[in-house]
Amino acid sequence: MHYLDHAATTPVPAAVASVMTKVLTQSYGNPSAQYALGRQARALVDSSRAVIARALACRPEQVVFTSCGTEGDNWAIRAALHQNRRVGKHIVTTAVEHSAVLQCLKKLEQEGYAVTYLKPDGAGRVTARQAAEALREDTALVSVMLVNNETGVRFPVEEIAALLKNRDTLLHTDAVQGFLKMPFTAKSLGADYITLSAHKIGGPKGIGALYMGGRAKNVQPLLYGGGQESGLRPGTEPTAQIAGFAKAVELRLEDLEAVRQHLASCRAYALERLGTIPDLQFIGAGDAPHILSLSLPGYPSQNIVSELSEKGVYISAGSACHRGKASHVLTAMGLDRKTAAGTVRVSFGPETTPADIDALYDALLEHKTKRFPML
Ligand code: PLP
Repeated sequence: MHYLDHAATTPVPAAVASVMTKVLTQSYGNPSAQYALGRQARALVDSSRAVIARALACRPEQVVFTSCGTEGDNWAIRAALHQNRRVGKHIVTTAVEHSAVLQCLKKLEQEGYAVTYLKPDGAGRVTARQAAEALREDTALVSVMLVNNETGVRFPVEEIAALLKNRDTLLHTDAVQGFLKMPFTAKSLGADYITLSAHKIGGPKGIGALYMGGRAKNVQPLLYGGGQESGLRPGTEPTAQIAGFAKAVELRLEDLEAVRQHLASCRAYALERLGTIPDLQFIGAGDAPHILSLSLPGYPSQNIVSELSEKGVYISAGSACHRGKASHVLTAMGLDRKTAAGTVRVSFGPETTPADIDALYDALLEHKTKRFPML
């Protein structure tokens, strides 16, 4: 098998699985329980939070565990709008956010909010100047992702944060694809809310975290229930997932530069090899080291993905989240129909080898040679 879909999700290293098994079978207490097993679980949640905080160089109390990146995005948006309800009902975002942001904003539009969607250029870039021009007196929130999940393009979150410094407008960034791939700290980004998810960095699915900076005030919960997570996020803490998330982060932090370099060298090798396939085009500016978007114009991506999967080469058609539908990211970038239809996403992880990329090259070349393009 050649797994080249790490932007969709990642394998969990044995060391992470082993920590999780231990929690599930031995340290399984409820962190709210008063006896020793409960206190042990509480200590585990606290030490795990400290690990995530270390990765963001922030204080542990600024990190709240969530069930996933999608929850973090929805919560940050709702919480920021609640805080700024007197500022107004205008939101600025990009047309290429993940559906966890876009669908939440669609719902808010139905509830009476106005949303400005910044359009990327042909390389997938959005500038801080576009954001500046979109700001209004009543802009309550700007939500701009750090790294686009389809193209790997990094957005200028720091510059946008600087624009908002002297305004009430809050800034949220979905950093799910950027976390531990691109260097940043909570302070260097300057966002008020930062969304993270574990399963893109070797952690388990079903756990994420939301960073809340100093300007986030009177944060309104998304769910109502018990007093967990300082009353901000009720629900019995999923201790195994939390410990697994922290272990995955620890493993990455130990080896951060080596992993980044490995990802970048995989990407460079793929650019070199796949670039020799006739007519193959690379899509987007591609800043993130783990994502490569490419197109065989006219060859439907669904067919490419399914034929490659028969050969054990796993990639995705654009983003795994919108099977079959034209990608909103490629559409917003203004790609022509044939190029958009033929676009696939390849993404690398620490486990990726040159042999995986060679297998991808062989399979793509064979597809191109044997199949006919659409008209
Ligand atoms: N945001 C981005 C940029 C993503 O790539 C993803 C997952 O694909 C999410 C949010 C959603 O994260 P989760 O799967 O943890 O809900």
